This record gives sequence, C-alpha cells and structure tokens, in this order.
Amino acid sequence: MKAPPPPAAPETPSFDALGLKPDLVEALTALGYEEPTPIQAAALPPLLAQKDLLGIAATGTGKTAAFSLPLLQHLKPGAAAPHSTSALVLVPTRELAMQVSEAIHRYGQKLGVSVLPLYGGQEIGRQLRVLKRGVDVIVATPGRALDHLRRKTLKLDQVQTVVLDEADEMLDMGFADDLEAILSETPEQRQTALFSATLPPRIASIAERHLHEPVRVRIAKEKLEAGEMPRVRQTAYIVPRAFKIATLGRVLDLESPTAAIVFCRTRTEVDELTTSLNGRGWRAHALHGGMSQEQRDRVIKQFKSQAADLLIATDVAARGLDIPRLTHVVNFDVPNAPEAYVHRIGRTGRAGREGVAITLLEPREHRLLRNIERLTGQRIEVSAVPTVSDLRARRLEMIRSSLRETLVGGELDAFRGIAEDLSGEFSVMDVAAAAIKLLQEKEDEGKDTADQEIPQVSAPAERKFPRTERSGPPGRFADRGAERPSRGPRTADRGERPERGERSERGERSERAPARPQRAPEWNVTRLFIGAGRTAGMRPADLVGAIAGEAGLESSRIGAIHIADMYSIVEVPEPDAARIISALKGSTLRGRKVTVRRDTRD
Ligand code: AMP
Repeated sequence: MKAPPPPAAPETPSFDALGLKPDLVEALTALGYEEPTPIQAAALPPLLAQKDLLGIAATGTGKTAAFSLPLLQHLKPGAAAPHSTSALVLVPTRELAMQVSEAIHRYGQKLGVSVLPLYGGQEIGRQLRVLKRGVDVIVATPGRALDHLRRKTLKLDQVQTVVLDEADEMLDMGFADDLEAILSETPEQRQTALFSATLPPRIASIAERHLHEPVRVRIAKEKLEAGEMPRVRQTAYIVPRAFKIATLGRVLDLESPTAAIVFCRTRTEVDELTTSLNGRGWRAHALHGGMSQEQRDRVIKQFKSQAADLLIATDVAARGLDIPRLTHVVNFDVPNAPEAYVHRIGRTGRAGREGVAITLLEPREHRLLRNIERLTGQRIEVSAVPTVSDLRARRLEMIRSSLRETLVGGELDAFRGIAEDLSGEFSVMDVAAAAIKLLQEKEDEGKDTADQEIPQVSAPAERKFPRTERSGPPGRFADRGAERPSRGPRTADRGERPERGERSERGERSERAPARPQRAPEWNVTRLFIGAGRTAGMRPADLVGAIAGEAGLESSRIGAIHIADMYSIVEVPEPDAARIISALKGSTLRGRKVTVRRDTRD
C-alpha cells in the first residue's frame, strides 16, 4: 500500500527560521509546539511581511497563532494612546473572544503585551477602565466593539492590524453591517487578515472591498488519489475537553488494542497524557521532540518489544516510525491538517489487516472532521461515547471468556474443595456468581475514575442558520419573546434587533440580533430548570456562557431563556440536555453551585 505523505514536509521551516522574535519562539517552545502547522507555515511569511491575507481554515488548524504571532511581532507594547488599540481581532462569539485573547496573552506574555477581550454580558466598568489606559490588542465581538465606538470609549484610528476571525460565522450571525461600520473607523493603511472556514460569495465580496491585494491561503487539498487511503475502521467521539481522558480510557478498555499510538498536538499534552494513562494502569510511554535521540530510541525499542502498550506521541516525533504490530491509532486531538490525519492512520491497517482509527474531538471542532472526510472521500462514523454499562458489559464479557478458558484448561482440583464446602450452605450457582463478582471487583480496582458518566454530545448541525423559513407552526424558539419576563425590553429576543444605544449592558445574545426571519429549530427542545434567578444576579449571558463554555453547546442552539426572581428556565436541544445538566452540575453559576434539572412543570 502506498504510504501517504507526511503531514508537514521535512522542509517545513521552524518558527525560528520564519524570523519570529526569540521571545515569541520561546513562548511556543514552552507551550510544546514543535513546528508550524500547515496554515501557520503558509500564513506566517506573508503576514510577517505585512501583506493582507485571506485564509480559508477552520477552528483547530492553528489559525489563532497564524494571525496572532505576526500581530505580536509588529506591535510596540504600551504604544496605544488612551482609548486606542494597535490591533483589533473581531470574532463571532464571547467564547471565542475569551479563547483568542488567552492565546494572544500566552504567546505575547514575554513581550509585555496587554490584551483585552470585549464581549457582551461582561461587566462594562472593567472594560472602560482598561480601555481608558489604551491597550495593545483588543479581541472583540462586533456588537460590543460597535457599542464602545459609539460611546467614544474606543477609538480605532491607531489600529495597524485588523483580523476578522471566523468571518463566515460573523456574517451568519447578522454582523455584516457592524463589520462594515467598524472597518470604516480604521485607517486605510492597516494590515488586514480575514479567516473563514468557507468562502461563500459574501465573504469574497468583503475580502474584495477590505483587503488590499491579499495573499490567499487554503489548507485542505481537495481529494486523495485512489489507493492513498489505508483500510482502516474510522470512528470519532465528540466530547467536551474535560472528559477526553476519561473517554480515551474507556474506549481503550473496550477496544483492548494490542498496541496503539495516541497522537497529541503538543509535547506538554504528550507528557500529561502519559502520566495520566500510567496512573490508570496502562503501560504508556511518551515520544516527542523535547526528548534526546537516545531516549526516543529506547522508547521505540520498548514499544516494539511489547514492554509498552501505548505510545503517546507528537506527529514530529512519530514521523517515519514503522511498527507492524500496531492495531490502533488514536487522535487524542484532531490533527491540525487533514493530511496529517491520513498520515497518522496510515500507520495501522498494514499488510492487509484492518486497523482501527479513533478520533476524539471537541464540539467546536466538528468542521475539521468534514475537511478530513472531503480529503479522504470516506466517512468517519461519529459514535456515542461508551456508557458505564457498556464498559461493565464488556468487562463481564471478558471475565466470561477467561472463565471458559480456565474451565477448558482444567486443573481445578485444588479449588474444588472450597466450592464443595460452600455448596453445603449456598447453591452452587450462587457460589459461582460470587466468584465472578470478586473477579469483577478485582478488574475494577484502580479504574474508579473511568466509571463516571461521560456526557453524550451530538454532532452539531452543519449550518446553524438555515436560510429558508420553515413552514408550519412556529416552534418554541420562534416565540421565545413570549417566554421573556415582563421586566426589561424584549431585546434579547433574537428575532428583534435592539436599538444600538441600548445594547451595551446586555448579554452576548442581545448583540446577536440579526435581521433574519424567525424560524423554528431543527431539534426537539427540552426546558431546563436552574435554581438561581434574578435575585442571584443571573442574566441570560451567564446561562449562555455557562452552557456554551461548560457543555460545549454552540450558543446558537440555546433557545428561549426566562429569568424569574428565584429560578431560570432555559430551552436546549433534547439530545444535549443530559450532558448540559451534568456539565452545569459540575460547575458554578454566578459563583455558586445551583440546582439544574429538567423542568417538570407544564
Ligand atoms: P486553533 O485552530 O487556533 O483554535 O488551534 C487549535 C489548537 O492547536 C490549539 O489547542 C492550539 O494550542 C494548537 N496549536 C496551534 N498551533 C500549534 C502548533 N504549531 N503545534 C501544536 N499545536 C498547535
């Protein structure tokens, strides 16, 4: 079988060779990044040369670093005048604003760069205080950025770099006019980078008007040649980050691989996961570029000689590795490029045997799966995470096989005496059952954490806002305004666009009031009861933030929110309800634990 090409060719330049400042390179090394991802290798040179860029890349490809590193390279920290900023990153959601500003903070920490996320629902006092001093980088949702522009608490005349991240999502959410208004306040000579997962005509038109002779970068190649795909059973599990290790442990328990490689994106992840799996009874060894050649050779030798079951590796360290006894490849993280996926899974399924490829992805990363499927022309089945009872059933199944083997093997005389003794007092059937129970308890030892229930996440719908209006009676989401408390305006209602001036104190949802037809959701809806309401200071944005952040549900899938004095009700898709309840129970809302359950009232 023809081996697919490696994920990043050996000539991929190092971060150092790309000309990044030593402080930035050091930050990346500390994060465990071994080499640029394909989008970084393609986008960094033009962006570092201060050219405009149109990048077609989904979340999970490493695009945040692709636009953040050049922006940081060019910044003069502390140069922004009061109320001004040197770089503006616009993102569609509050969650992404937080995520991107954290990433920029981490990359730019050594440079002393100040970063401020601006999104609806956040306490405005702090935003005003920081803005007043001036801030190097602002990461904002369009609605909130516009609020500050109109209040004159934010000025964009000193902006040197603008990034539009997930531009297609921003348009889907009705932010087109806001984007135009914001861009018109920035200087003509700025550098602009636009990233989008897709390139519909509306994005092309924005790029046409606002980018100056942009360099175009698209990472996924369209399709593999016939024969390039190995014969591998491919399964994916969608899980929130917090449950990834538990899911991995459970899937490994069920699959019982003879030998598996588990791929991670960074050295840090490799080290953490190795420690964690060894603590759970696996024989796991780490393999990454931070280890000496001698250490790496030793690990590979041990793995080949069956002294280890699992190799936890980065792509770079595992490049060129050929291990015939490998039965499973696990992507603990979806690789940053679809080609890397093909290369990884090509390591199993050799010599005509069927291999198994397992991928764990976080809810936001589902688009990466589509990219991979487009490249390979094969479907990856998204399976439900095995439940505790699946696991128990599997363990019992294994006990049954061991018992059969032992019965067939004979030589039981030494034990028959005990069975005979007990048979005077108990039935032989009960004696056998008790022996099985003991065996099972022994099996379960040290595996206690694996037995927590893992929330089930369904794959998100491909398009979040279908453009056609559904006929028939409106669903619950369509009349969410009717659910609102009488107090306060109905502006958090998605179907009604609030007056600009009213926006600032409300949550993220009130920012996203696109002028699009009301419609019914495509899923069944469940109401959740949350045991805290207005008196506890609860706001719609808190609930949206918690559900999106803790349970990984896209905020566009959250329905009507009703906040009463002592409790709140929120509508969520039925298939996600159990997972949301379990995630919220494990976290705090407005700083405290609250009751969360299905709403049983009519
Ligand atoms: P993004 O597409 O920017 O959301 O990045 C997806 C994930 O890839 C994040 O967890 C990043 O920390 C990680 N990442 C970005 N660049 C690299 C790299 N060069 N090597 C390893 N991991 C990376």
